[in-house]
Amino acid sequence: MKSRWDESLTFDGALHECVHGSRLMGADSSLVLHGGGNTSVKSGWTDVTGAVVDALYVKGSGWDLASIEAPGFSPLPIDRLHALSELDVLSDSDMMAALSAARLDSASPQPSVETLLHALIPHRAVQHSHADVIVTLTNLADGDERVREVFGPDVIVIPYVMPGFDLAKKVAELWPRQFNDRTSGMVLMNHGLFTFGDTTRFAYERHVELITLAEDWLTQNAPQVLLAGELPEVDVTAIAELRRAISVAAAAPMITTRHTDDQVAGFVARDDLASLATRGPLTPDHVIRTKMVPMVGRDVEAYVEGYGSYYERNEHRGRTELTMLDPAPRIVVDPELGMMSVGRTTGDADIAADIYHHTIPVLCRAEDHLGGYQALGEHHLFDCEYWDLEQAKLRLRGAPPPMAGQVALVTGAASGIGRACSAELLSRGAAVIGLDVSREVTDVFDEASWLGVRTDVTDEGAVAGAITAGVERFGGVDLAVVAAGIFGPSRQLADFDLSEWQQVHAINIESVAVLFHHLHPLLSLSPASPAVAVIASKNVPAPGKGAAAYSTSKAALTQLVRVAALEWAADGIRVNAVHPDAVFDTGLWTTELLAERAERYSMTVDEYKRRNLLSTNVTSATVAGVVGDLLSDRFSATTGAQIPIDGGSDRVL
Ligand code: ZN
Repeated sequence: MKSRWDESLTFDGALHECVHGSRLMGADSSLVLHGGGNTSVKSGWTDVTGAVVDALYVKGSGWDLASIEAPGFSPLPIDRLHALSELDVLSDSDMMAALSAARLDSASPQPSVETLLHALIPHRAVQHSHADVIVTLTNLADGDERVREVFGPDVIVIPYVMPGFDLAKKVAELWPRQFNDRTSGMVLMNHGLFTFGDTTRFAYERHVELITLAEDWLTQNAPQVLLAGELPEVDVTAIAELRRAISVAAAAPMITTRHTDDQVAGFVARDDLASLATRGPLTPDHVIRTKMVPMVGRDVEAYVEGYGSYYERNEHRGRTELTMLDPAPRIVVDPELGMMSVGRTTGDADIAADIYHHTIPVLCRAEDHLGGYQALGEHHLFDCEYWDLEQAKLRLRGAPPPMAGQVALVTGAASGIGRACSAELLSRGAAVIGLDVSREVTDVFDEASWLGVRTDVTDEGAVAGAITAGVERFGGVDLAVVAAGIFGPSRQLADFDLSEWQQVHAINIESVAVLFHHLHPLLSLSPASPAVAVIASKNVPAPGKGAAAYSTSKAALTQLVRVAALEWAADGIRVNAVHPDAVFDTGLWTTELLAERAERYSMTVDEYKRRNLLSTNVTSATVAGVVGDLLSDRFSATTGAQIPIDGGSDRVL
């Protein structure tokens, strides 16, 4: 490991130096992942009277080291922290309440559960990681011997104790016995590494030194296992079936993401997969993201049963009444599928995947070169999974949004109504597969729940490919919005042009029939309430001159909706159409065209835009709001319906 400390930087105080060091740690995924690890610095706090208090600034809950800022640290009076650690017994919830009350700045975040441990370390600056190489050395049957072999007497070694008050007490007990002139760090078995010093830079450099020592030792004694392999293509319905079973187990729709990289392919091809994958996580706090073990294969029922027995065996350990968490797996390893990561949101599924991508090489290295991987006993893992403080971290994020875990496919997603519908569904928590012929579709939204695929909807192979990409990313399709469409050139029937007519029909209606054909098996396997919304047009009930191709294609589209509603009702799939009119913030309408039309009717542009019964301006967002509601359970009893979104039209009423 190379030091990434920027020597040219100067800092406005110890806290800012700590922020820099924390971010360096957070930026390295081999050190900490997604909120893991913590840092602190002891420095003065000036209160409103001007008095200076000796304080510990410690990382607050909810902050990630990678992006932490000064307000992410809570200042607490050292005296108070020492007084708390003098107690013989203190429950973790009482400890957290006491820490919360002791904050010198009431606006600062809840302090880390490892606050007392940081306070006990006599050095000013402290850095703590869950480094991959440290958990490689400590998840072995003879882990403490290996740690001594690598570091000699230069580190304090603490046997595994769950983070919190008990760990702080254990460190208070063992630190004086093991500390010596050469002490440069502290290894927590099955957990991670602490380093310390007078400055954050010193503590960080010590981290680099110790990690490098461990890396060098491992390179010599346990070469990294190189994994490679190839996984077969898998039918999308097999993925959707698995997602459905997992969602049923979780009692909520889940996102599942397929991973087929070399490392995964090599891992799932191992003969000892079932044994090696089910020995437990690298460090106990991973259980809230990955559960104790992955599911090997696809037997969700057996996994759920296994989880139930694990819960029953350990339930008595709860200090308060426990409620069983959902028993669905968060990681699946399967010889054909590779790895599936699972979450209520795409972000959760991605975090589980990141953790397991770091887990696989450690498992293989320990197993193949270091005498065998051995994690903590399940009771320790249970304590962590059902630890109120860990669950509180998840609760801090609040209830998931209404469409969390659902997957929508939207055509014409790069602009106009399709883009607005995508934004609406994303804001409701759905993951969205966006199809559009424009290359801009890939970057329309910059978030994990968005997958834009450049697709010509009239190319059946391309549509099938986009659906496959979407299902590999999110696990299935629950909702669909058909928004791709063109108006075509205005042309009276007297000037009929067959190729123009065919192009309009190919995009507006034929492509939708093809799309429906490909979507039906997936919608049928939806674990949520599958629904389709089709953007038709006011031209269906009120056609316009010069728009024969457009009006007839949208009329056919509306009829397709009604047939699909009839055919798919038995599968619980709702299919409805909306008829927007005069939505001017789309690509169809240029400023010139708008001005020309307004002039033709002797109106101003604003008057022209509002020429409907309600004199209202219908926008893409108006349409998207209705589509969002139509796809939600609010309309669970509605199918085959046509809803105007036109401000009221006397030609339709
Ligand atoms: Zn830790």
